[in-house]
Amino acid sequence: MRVTIIGAGYVGITTGACLSYLGHRVTCVDTDAAKVETLQRGELPIYENHLRELLHLARVRGGIDFTTEFESVAESDVIFLAVGTPSRPTGEADLSFLESAARRVGSSLTRERHHVIVNKSTVPIGTGNLVQSLLNEGIHARHGQNSSMPFSVASNPEFLREGSAVFDSLYPERIVLGVESGTAMEMLRELYRPILEQRFEAPSLPARPEDCREVPLIVTSLSSAEMIKYAANAFLAMKISFANEAANICEKVGADVTQVMAGIGLDSRIGARFLNAGIGWGGSCFGKDLRSLLHTAGEYGYRAQLLEASLAVNQAQRQMVIHKLQEKLYTLKGRSIALFGLAFKPGTDDLRDAPSLQIAEELLKRGARVRAYDPVAMPACRQQHPELNIQYCNSILDAASGTHAVVVVTEWTEFAAMDLEKVAQAMADRVLIDGRNLFDPELARKAGFDYSGVGRGSSRRRPVEHDASDDAAAANSAPAGDVQTTVPNGAPLTMVPG
Ligand code: NAD
Repeated sequence: MRVTIIGAGYVGITTGACLSYLGHRVTCVDTDAAKVETLQRGELPIYENHLRELLHLARVRGGIDFTTEFESVAESDVIFLAVGTPSRPTGEADLSFLESAARRVGSSLTRERHHVIVNKSTVPIGTGNLVQSLLNEGIHARHGQNSSMPFSVASNPEFLREGSAVFDSLYPERIVLGVESGTAMEMLRELYRPILEQRFEAPSLPARPEDCREVPLIVTSLSSAEMIKYAANAFLAMKISFANEAANICEKVGADVTQVMAGIGLDSRIGARFLNAGIGWGGSCFGKDLRSLLHTAGEYGYRAQLLEASLAVNQAQRQMVIHKLQEKLYTLKGRSIALFGLAFKPGTDDLRDAPSLQIAEELLKRGARVRAYDPVAMPACRQQHPELNIQYCNSILDAASGTHAVVVVTEWTEFAAMDLEKVAQAMADRVLIDGRNLFDPELARKAGFDYSGVGRGSSRRRPVEHDASDDAAAANSAPAGDVQTTVPNGAPLTMVPG
């Protein structure tokens, strides 16, 4: 099929590359001329696992091109709107990009074919109707007040996770379609058939998981599809905030949240994922989508208290890093602090609403010197946040060198695998704030760190006197975060949380 995608960002490029890999002919349109030029040169303006390789394959399969012009809309069966919908200061979603894109699409539609305009941006409930009227405005502006074109509007919320966006797009857990016409339904089912039936030849990376055979298709009204996206993000954000709330109580009562979450996660009604306590969530979606849903609820006179609490707990987690550093170092003035990780999560260079930014800002405000190392996000941080006086470093050891404290902000595998002893030795003071609970507290202390995780109250207790033979046993035992349990035949089983 012929597809145009409006907005060549994280969602637009990934969707375009995947659909083109499946054999569709794709054009990605973006108003940012510099971004389009980068893409035309075959380079990516973002870092995303496997995207470069997939884009290369896509060019020789269905074919994909990038442009600032809207011409391809006229000959496209399906047109996706994948532009940004950031927060306004009130929390309301700013729909100005979407509005302008929809008008321009409207003015480019033709009578030659039935076009399906699909909203992939995350938008407040009711935006499907707004898009419909904006498309008509575009048609009228170009062809006259009484003109009409054959088109349908649909909603197809996006659930990809940055860092595994290609995997999530090729092997999604579900596809949600909000449609109000049979034609739109049939055309979108046809577009997604290779994914729904998982019949396409999978790339070598990311490989198709063995249990991915058919992908469930959920067909709903426009407003239900729009609400599904908000409800999904609100629930996920709430799950992490719940783990953080529990972590804060664990610290007070002397329990270990990693054990507690592993213990509750085995209950299939709860599920083990998204229960990692730490310095909280960030990224372009959770914060803005929760605020937007709160705003929508407010428009109906409803106060969504659970959503308010999820946001408040998340904010407090970021501040908690500063409190822990103050507790350990007393004053932060003149102290050198290393941030391990800047991206809001591993696998991406996206810094939108990244906890690292707020933590760096708070530290600088208190007179600390901030050093940072991130495997991919440093160029983006340097370019997008010149106001932050961060000293960017070339490696873990370079960042740690001469510092009074290290804060693990992003759970990159490179950090989990680092040589703790070497890092401790490079530092002036050996405070480690493990904001992602990456390390076994005992091992970190043995390496020489003054260790502090999140919600690991039990690890603060002084160890009881023991003889040297206990050390070997301890070294072979599961990390403090693991839960020892047993399977029916009595063999010990270690569950690794998260
Ligand atoms: P992004 O900011 O990376 O990309 C948006 C692109 O749209 C930009 O390149 C911008 O230049 C372009 N644009 C803006 N106005 C335009 C116009 N009128 N015409 C053409 N292009 C225009 O955003 P993103 O992260 O890809 O997110 C897009 C949407 O998808 C948002 O609503 C977001 O909430 C949603 N979403 C994002 C993710 C994610 O992980 N990033 C996941 C699910 C859903």
